[in-house]
Amino acid sequence: MKRRRFWTVLLFIAFLAAPGATARTPAPAGAPGAGAPPEPSEPWLAAARHIAARPQHVVRSAHALFFAVGRFPKGYVERLDADFERRIFPRVTELLGRTPVLPVTVRLYDSRDALRDGLLQEGISVDEVDDEIFAVQGETIGGTIHILADDPSYDLSGVLAHELAHTVLASLDIPDMSAWLNEAVATEVEMRVHDGAADTPGGRAFLEAERDDVLSAAHRGGFRRLPLDAAAYYGLLSSYPVEQQSHLIFQIFLQRYGWDGLEKLLRAQEEGYVDTATAFPAVFGLSEEAFVRAAEDELRRGLHLR
Ligand SMILES: [Zn+2]
Repeated sequence: MKRRRFWTVLLFIAFLAAPGATARTPAPAGAPGAGAPPEPSEPWLAAARHIAARPQHVVRSAHALFFAVGRFPKGYVERLDADFERRIFPRVTELLGRTPVLPVTVRLYDSRDALRDGLLQEGISVDEVDDEIFAVQGETIGGTIHILADDPSYDLSGVLAHELAHTVLASLDIPDMSAWLNEAVATEVEMRVHDGAADTPGGRAFLEAERDDVLSAAHRGGFRRLPLDAAAYYGLLSSYPVEQQSHLIFQIFLQRYGWDGLEKLLRAQEEGYVDTATAFPAVFGLSEEAFVRAAEDELRRGLHLR
């Protein structure tokens, strides 16, 4: 099975929030009086022009606006939208007990190049996009979901559910949510919508595939320890095994506190307008860091890593 790989929205929010990050205007051309036309040199503008030159197709429904860039089989976008309305949106919003800011915009791209243009058009830097573009299937930026749909036979419902979960979490009225938790919740939602819960055959297969991926990545990387500390997490955010490690850590969270524990944590964050690290001890009686460290140890033992 083709493994699904995702980016988190947080990387981009952090990037966009960095002082000066969005004001990265190119330095004036060195040669005196060079006067290079500024517009075509802006990657986002070039990307927008590429997209404007492609076929475009819009489908609107109650909760979503599907904007397809490129060529897709007849009825493909309509079927995806219908599945989103009938199954994905109700299930994700029920699981999270919340709805995103509506409508959700879903942009579909028929090639990786077109997806690259879509991300550049959002103002992400060329370096940032090109470092990761090979691995991206879905990406959420603000309220917009970007999805690579280059294989019409591939079932995108898990990707849509995952990215919709990010969109719901991004519309919470809280100052910050921990990156590992954001990614883990989106992956758990994806699993439940696409493959079933942890006690169903599909869900078990999903978790086993994650463990296999994490183990092979750990051995490939030559480390015996899962790199789950915060610095390593951010450093490795772009590599998919890290997301899966977060999700495996979240399985331990669920064993201990249940799905209801997540709801308590989110509510505490919303009511107090506090970040995850602040709400965690108030709800569970230990620091988030202590929980993650203990869960890492448990996971490491379970995976027979030192
Ligand atoms: Zn994600």
